[in-house]
Amino acid sequence: MANEVKTIGVLTSGGDAPGMNAAIRAVVRTALANGLKVKGIRRGYSGLLDEDIVDMEAQSVSDIIQRGGTILYTARSKEFMTTEGQDKAAEICRKHGIDGLVVIGGDGSFRGAADLAVRGINTVCLPGTIDLDIACTDYTIGFDTAVNTAMEAIDKVRDTSTSHERCSIIEVMGRKAGYIALWCGIANGAEDILVTERYDYDEQKIIDKIIERRKAGKKHYIIVNAEGIGDSNNMAKRIEAATGMEARATIIGHIQRGGSPTCIDRVHASAMGAYGVDLLCKGASNRVVGYRDGNYVDYDIKEALAMKKDIDQYLYDVSKTLSR
Ligand code: ATP
Repeated sequence: MANEVKTIGVLTSGGDAPGMNAAIRAVVRTALANGLKVKGIRRGYSGLLDEDIVDMEAQSVSDIIQRGGTILYTARSKEFMTTEGQDKAAEICRKHGIDGLVVIGGDGSFRGAADLAVRGINTVCLPGTIDLDIACTDYTIGFDTAVNTAMEAIDKVRDTSTSHERCSIIEVMGRKAGYIALWCGIANGAEDILVTERYDYDEQKIIDKIIERRKAGKKHYIIVNAEGIGDSNNMAKRIEAATGMEARATIIGHIQRGGSPTCIDRVHASAMGAYGVDLLCKGASNRVVGYRDGNYVDYDIKEALAMKKDIDQYLYDVSKTLSR
């Protein structure tokens, strides 16, 4: 029988992202609306292994849709990455009557959900990461808030950069993925955007461009770096030495993870949470929810993890054309 799930567990795992609370709220309320019980698992897979499990009612998720972070806390667990850890986690789910599990996190968390699905726990994953680095979806919970937060911060740096006629190197999050840098670089009118997917590490080209633009009367020079590019402070020192233009690095850091989620993050997170529970109610397991070409969709976890994603070449080309 498809509709066998009676109790849904929900956890957040990996890095936190604004909008995770909206997703938790949607999972809880959709499950309750379908006559299911819901249990919140605190601190991700680590909390599951510690049996840090609480009953969730409609009011457990009151007043959280507007809050950043995750009320269920998040963690990373080495123990869960072992076969013994996964066996134990599945047993704990069974002990607590959890036959369906919603995992909100990034691709590492999805791998864990696939391991539980093999052990008979019906799992559904929601893409919760500010990095937008999940290939099966055009949108991930938290990206929109993170880019808006970074964009506002870069606007402020830009003001002071112009006043002091400085070169500002602004580092945003994204160790492997340059989406935040690309989007902010375009939104903030950066002169250069360095992303790991495209940067050739030829700093001389940047230096030549700064010298040329300065001669043409530019008052500032903004470079937006993705975190994975390397040490922005050292880059600032080298650029200052080579160009004679004062150069400073600003690392925006964890500010990008926090704060009240934007409308887009709240709405997509709500819809994805509801969609995930609907999947479990239909008897689905081992699925990742995505948003593609304007529709909510779902994929087999392994299929989703095998997909590859590159930054948008068109947006990248546009950024180059506009940075004059
Ligand atoms: P983010 O993108 O924010 O880093 P993530 O979900 O990718 O999120 P990870 O640290 O990779 O973050 O994974 C979160 C947790 O998921 C890990 O601590 C671990 O418990 C579990 N996990 C990660 N990879 C695997 C794996 N290959 N098999 C089983 N479990 C895994």
